[in-house]
Amino acid sequence: MAWWSRTQGLAAEPKKSVPKGIWIKCERCNATLYEADLDANQRVCTSCNHHFRVGTEDRIALSIDEGSWQEHDRPLESTDPLGFRVDGKKYVDQVKNTTKKVGPGDAYRAGSATIGGIPVEVGFFVFEFMGGSMGSVVGEKIARQFERAIAHRRPAIMFCASGGARMQEGVLSLMQMAKTSAARSRLRESRIPYISVLLHPTTGGVAASVAMLGDIIIAEPDALIGFAGPRVIEQTIRQQLPPGFQRSEFLLEHGMVDLVVSRKDLRSTLARSLRWFERGRHDPEHRTGTLTPDAEAEPSAAD
Ligand SMILES: [Zn+2]
Repeated sequence: MAWWSRTQGLAAEPKKSVPKGIWIKCERCNATLYEADLDANQRVCTSCNHHFRVGTEDRIALSIDEGSWQEHDRPLESTDPLGFRVDGKKYVDQVKNTTKKVGPGDAYRAGSATIGGIPVEVGFFVFEFMGGSMGSVVGEKIARQFERAIAHRRPAIMFCASGGARMQEGVLSLMQMAKTSAARSRLRESRIPYISVLLHPTTGGVAASVAMLGDIIIAEPDALIGFAGPRVIEQTIRQQLPPGFQRSEFLLEHGMVDLVVSRKDLRSTLARSLRWFERGRHDPEHRTGTLTPDAEAEPSAAD
């Protein structure tokens, strides 16, 4: 009998396949991982470093200081201005059903929090909610998040995971690209830093707007980031795309993202970046410096 069936008390069912929720197969290296170990490692494969997707609740907990989350605009809901239906299903019903499953707040959750003790206005795309698609509610929440950042003079941070604009709201979804980009430029005018964190996947209208407009753009390893899918591009340009195209590391090499950071180092990297911006505010000379890991070694006793 397999050792694990004894230790897990599953001796009565020796012939059954791997029980769900205890073991999981790595999507990349096929290693069989103990689900609890995977959780303990922030859902990163212990054998190949593959980053599994993390649910939004867990993502919030991983990213901010414990107990600092103060959510805003949770009850905003989409209307159905186009009376949209797919396969006879109404868009409003789709939203209702998804809300029941995932919770209120549409595909974006925004709040005030601290990271490394520094107050921020932070937002998270909810990929579980219709693929993190950006409709009117998501656009409005992002605009409000940036407005709060300006009002309180706090840096804005966004964690992106989205399939793009929400087709069920048609052109109103596409308008959110302009709306969020305009809100982002008001941040810039007010000299408020904005850090964008690109998670797997960040595609379509979200990638083509607010996601790629960060002062610092950080990506998790091997995240798919791009506007159109590789197949569409290949058919359009009639060329084969290079290996690793539209993945974080490829984009880093080609200057489209600033850092590729493992999940376990993400919060500390954000904290370090925030401190760097903070110092720049008090000491204009510092603005000419670069953000390097060495900056961490320097004690910040001066402020
Ligand atoms: Zn693996």
